[in-house]
Amino acid sequence: MSQPLTIALAKGRILDEILPLLARADIKPTDDLFTSRKLVFSTNDENINLVLIRSADVATYVQYGAADLGVAGKDVLLEHGGEGLYERLDLKIASCKLMTAGIADKAIPKGRIKVATKYPEITRQFFLRQGRQVELIKLYGSMELAPIVGLADLIVDLVDSGNTLKANGLVPLDHIMDISSRLIVNRASLKMKNQAIKALVDKIEQAVED
Ligand code: AMP
Repeated sequence: MSQPLTIALAKGRILDEILPLLARADIKPTDDLFTSRKLVFSTNDENINLVLIRSADVATYVQYGAADLGVAGKDVLLEHGGEGLYERLDLKIASCKLMTAGIADKAIPKGRIKVATKYPEITRQFFLRQGRQVELIKLYGSMELAPIVGLADLIVDLVDSGNTLKANGLVPLDHIMDISSRLIVNRASLKMKNQAIKALVDKIEQAVED
């Protein structure tokens, strides 16, 4: 019996890199994910469908089994907590660094500082390890603006080329961790659709190494 599988993908940077990787594993959507307004896509493999959602929602879809598998950044997974899912593969795509950053040449105040980020959980743990008291300010985007307008002393954000920081007069400071995209699998799906998932994970693993 065939076991259809749904893979959750996210719009944005990861999509640019995951589609060529899936193509190497011979999984090709029948529509253009970049231009279509659809959210569910069939592929050349009738047993594999794709859903396209926001990156912060990928882990939630997989946790609840709404998608069997998903592709999400390690940043998103750490923030989510990983409940109900297995991290199965490091896809080695969308690689970047999670860093603190602040205004160039501006001393960081002593004592309790304000830190703006989309990643409050990772940030809280990082500063806890540093023994530093911080007030976390949760933002959903454009973190670079926060130090410029005095909302925060530091930000914690993903840094790739460093151009976004530079363009806003900011400098990278502490390297918190390396980030890349991971293939995640719903725990119940792994049991109930074990064969199909194993075959798919093997194919994708091979494509990562190619
Ligand atoms: P860059 O200017 O190349 O350093 O990129 C920094 C901007 O892109 C910031 O707004 C980051 O949040 C975002 N960014 C960098 N790398 C990634 C990634 N792998 N996934 C998602 N967003 C990223």
